[in-house]
Amino acid sequence: MILPKLTIVLAGPRGFCAGVDRAIQIVERALEISGRPVYVRHEIVHNRFVVEQLEAKGALFVDELDQVPEGATVVFSAHGVPKAVPADALRRGLNSLDATCPLVSKVHREAERHFEEGRQIILIGHGGHPEVDGTMGQLPPGAVVLLEDAEGVDALVVEDENNLAYCTQTTLSVDETESVIAALKARFPTISGPRKEDICYATTNRQAAVKAIAGDVDALMVIGSANSSNSSRLVEVARAYGCARSILVSRAADIDWRWFEGVSRLGLTAGASAPEILVEEVVAEARRRFDVTIEERTVARESVIFKLPAALNPGKQRAESAETALG
Ligand code: SF4
Repeated sequence: MILPKLTIVLAGPRGFCAGVDRAIQIVERALEISGRPVYVRHEIVHNRFVVEQLEAKGALFVDELDQVPEGATVVFSAHGVPKAVPADALRRGLNSLDATCPLVSKVHREAERHFEEGRQIILIGHGGHPEVDGTMGQLPPGAVVLLEDAEGVDALVVEDENNLAYCTQTTLSVDETESVIAALKARFPTISGPRKEDICYATTNRQAAVKAIAGDVDALMVIGSANSSNSSRLVEVARAYGCARSILVSRAADIDWRWFEGVSRLGLTAGASAPEILVEEVVAEARRRFDVTIEERTVARESVIFKLPAALNPGKQRAESAETALG
C-alpha cells in the first residue's frame, strides 16, 4: 500500500529540561536509598506518564503532608513549595527532600531580597499554578501581589508606587511577559526587576524553536499534559507565529488521526516535562499511517545539568554548565 507522505519537522530543543530531569532523579534516588514507598507532594512534574512511571517504581503521590506517615520520606515537587511546607514536614518528623528547580529557587531568593530591602513584589504569573503558590508563599501575606496579564496593571493596588519590584513565573510566554513588564514600567517607572524576566532557559529555548518552525508547517503538535504551563504556552506561541492548527496532545494514544487530513508538514515538539519517548511514540505511530520524512530544526544546544541534593549523591555531584546558543 502506498502511504501518503508526511514530513515531521522536529523542534529542538524539546522535552525534558534540567530541572525536570533532576526532580525525577531525586525521587528515583530516594527510592533506591529509602525503599518503597517514597511520598511525593503533588505531581513531581506536570506529566501523567512520568507520574505513572514513578508510581510503578514505588512513589506515592499525595496532596498534602497530613497524608504522609511520621518518619517517611517526602519529596517536594519541581514547582517549589511555600515556606510553611518544609516547616510542617519538620514538625511532623518527616524526612523531606526538595526537588524545587534551582531556577525557581532563584526567583524565591530574588523575592526575599526585594522584601528585605522594603519593596512590595508584583509576581507576574498564573493564579492557581503551584509555582505561583510556592513563590507567593516565601513571604508573609500581602508582600507579593499577583498580576496575570497586562490588562490587570491598571487595577493593581499597591502600598507605595515608588517602592516596588517584580518577579515572574519561570514558564510564561516570553512575548506576553514582555508586554506585561512594559505595562508595569509605564505605570510604575521606578519598579525594580531582573535584567530581563525570570523565564527559564528551557522555556525560552522551546518557544524559540516553535517560532522557528511555526510558519513552515501545516500543523503543529505539542506533546505535554494539559496542566503543564510551559507546554500550553508552546501551543499559544505556535498559533501566534502563524500556525493556527496547533494542538496539545498527552501521548500518541490520544491522537485523533483525522486531524492530519491535509497536513503534509507537521511540526512536533514536547514541553519541558514530557520525555522524548513520547515523541518517539508519536513518530512510530505516524510511520504506520504515512511515508514519514524527518527534518530536525535546532535553534539552541542545551547542556545545563543541576546537582542533586548532597544527601542523595555526595560522591557524584555534577557541575552546572551553561547552554550554548546556536547562531
Ligand atoms: S521548565 Fe525551567 S524552571 Fe521549570 S523545571 Fe524546567 S528548567 Fe526549571
